[in-house]
Amino acid sequence: MKITVIGTGYVGLIAGLGFAKWGNEVVCLDVIPEKIEKLQKGICPIYEPGAEVQLSDGLSSGRLRFTCDVKSAVEHGELIFIAVGTPEAADGSADLCYVYSAADEIADYMQSYKLVVDKSTVPVGTARALRQRIAERLKAMGKNIPFDVASNPEFLREGRAVGDFDNPDRIVLGVASERAEKLLRELYKVFSRSNKPVVVTTPETAEMIKYASNAFLATKITFINEIANLCEQVGANALEVAAAMGKDGRISPKFLHPGPGYGGSCFPKDTKALADTGKKFGAPMTVVESVVLANQRQKKLAAEKIMRRFPDGGVIALLGLSFKPETDDIRESPAVEIAGALLADGRYTVRMYDPKALENARRQLGGQANAVWCGSKKEALDNADAVVIATEWSEFASMDLAAVGSSLRQPVLFDLRNVYRKSEAETAGLEYYGTGV
Ligand code: NAD
Repeated sequence: MKITVIGTGYVGLIAGLGFAKWGNEVVCLDVIPEKIEKLQKGICPIYEPGAEVQLSDGLSSGRLRFTCDVKSAVEHGELIFIAVGTPEAADGSADLCYVYSAADEIADYMQSYKLVVDKSTVPVGTARALRQRIAERLKAMGKNIPFDVASNPEFLREGRAVGDFDNPDRIVLGVASERAEKLLRELYKVFSRSNKPVVVTTPETAEMIKYASNAFLATKITFINEIANLCEQVGANALEVAAAMGKDGRISPKFLHPGPGYGGSCFPKDTKALADTGKKFGAPMTVVESVVLANQRQKKLAAEKIMRRFPDGGVIALLGLSFKPETDDIRESPAVEIAGALLADGRYTVRMYDPKALENARRQLGGQANAVWCGSKKEALDNADAVVIATEWSEFASMDLAAVGSSLRQPVLFDLRNVYRKSEAETAGLEYYGTGV
């Protein structure tokens, strides 16, 4: 099939690579020329395990191209996927300006039937709005060309995006015509052998499935975080609580890991956007609104915990800056917020290290005099007063804790992700602060 993907970020790029791998002819479009130049040379602009190999395979197969040229990209695909960002607007709603401009570009250059497929996470009703917008634009140009708009939300996880795209839990197709359904079923027939569930529904329901899924997962994380906070106060152990809860098949152990709050490019903005949609339609999302507030509080608690232990300031080694392991994405990362709070306070020097996200964090946090960017965890630890594990990269899980203690001026470990057991840290001579233990 001939496919165009608009936007080569975490979702668009991985989708483009996957579609090409399945044997389709794929053109990926982006507005950032440097990104496209890198991709054309086989350089992946993001860190995502497995992506660079697929990129090189795709380019050498001749089925994958990257361009900034809107006209040729729109002309190429019978299916045009929109995978641009939908960031948070100032009022918490989803900012759809990139989605709308992609739709306008499609209308401006289309000469034949197109199935416009929204892969970006967008509020309920967006597919309908896009349909109307494209129709009006075509009419104003005097063009009478058939088209459909469908919703095909993406559920991949950063850090595991390549595997998730090839092995999804379900494929959701929100379609309003038989033609759109037939084309999308044809594209995703690669999964028929593995019996992956394909949910065919309306665009509105597909859009809601994505928000409901993300909001539910954010709620689960936030729930265990609040239980962990209470455990700290009453002397209970949140890890044992979560493990026992997780044995209940109705609950499951997934997403029950206490920590410094959820971050990333999806949960924070998607929970707020769902709450905003609820307000607009008079169906308050009370639970989700509370989750947003509780998560904001959770992110602050970790920095407060460190400041309470070191009220006169100090040198803090911060390990991990990405919002989770195996990605260089720092959007809404709790680690970056903790670093920002300590740096802004002025009494702390923060020695930071991350295997992949250091440059992104440096760009965001800027050049404060008390920020030290380190090339290894050893460098970060040297002569610090305490160490904070803020993101659970695997290289932080196998440290020699006794050696960690001896490279610190004070052997204090804030293990915000509960990578180590309290008993093993204390046996190694460290003063230990986990989350909920
Ligand atoms: P991103 O910010 O990483 O990438 C978006 C890309 O779109 C950028 O490269 C940008 O330059 C490009 N772009 C913007 N306007 C364009 C235009 N008119 N033409 C061509 N390119 C354009 O975003 P992302 O993380 O890939 O997310 C994209 C969407 O997918 C969002 O709605 C997000 O909520 C959703 N989503 C993201 C994830 C994730 O893990 N990141 C998972 C599922 C769904």
